[in-house]
Amino acid sequence: MRFRALTPIFTEYIPAEPEQEALYISMHFATAVHLCACGCGTKVVTPLGPQDWVLTFDGTVTLRPSVGNGQQPCRSHYCVRNDRIDWLPPISIAATRAAGARDRAVHVRAHTRLTWKPRWRRTWDRVRRTISSGGRVQRRGV
Ligand SMILES: [Zn+2]
Repeated sequence: MRFRALTPIFTEYIPAEPEQEALYISMHFATAVHLCACGCGTKVVTPLGPQDWVLTFDGTVTLRPSVGNGQQPCRSHYCVRNDRIDWLPPISIAATRAAGARDRAVHVRAHTRLTWKPRWRRTWDRVRRTISSGGRVQRRGV
C-alpha cells in the first residue's frame, strides 16, 4: 500500500532494518534512507549534497529532487514535501518526455551525469567546497 507521508527521524546511524513510513536522516553520513513509499520494501538511499538530494527542514522535511525508483519493478516516483508523499507518474522514458520541466530535470539527474546546474547551485557548490574541502563524496546510486 502506498504511503501518504513519511515520519522524519533524525539519527546518527541508519538502522539495518528501517521501519515503513519512516525517513531516517543522518547528518553524520549526509544521507537519508526510507523504504520505498509504494510499500514494496525496497530500501531507498538518498545521499544528501549539492550533486545529490537536498533536504530542507522547517519542522517538516522536504527532499529534492523527487525520488524515482526506476530500477525497481514498482517504478515508483514521488516527491517528499513537508513530510508528505506527492505521487508522480511512474518513471519511464515516455513520462520523461511528457513531464514538465521539473520532472525532466529529475530524469536528467537520474539517468545521466549532471552537466548543467542552476546558478544558485553552483554558488552553493562553491560554499560547500569551502566549508568541507576533502569531504567524503558519495556517488548517487539509482
Ligand atoms: Zn516500490
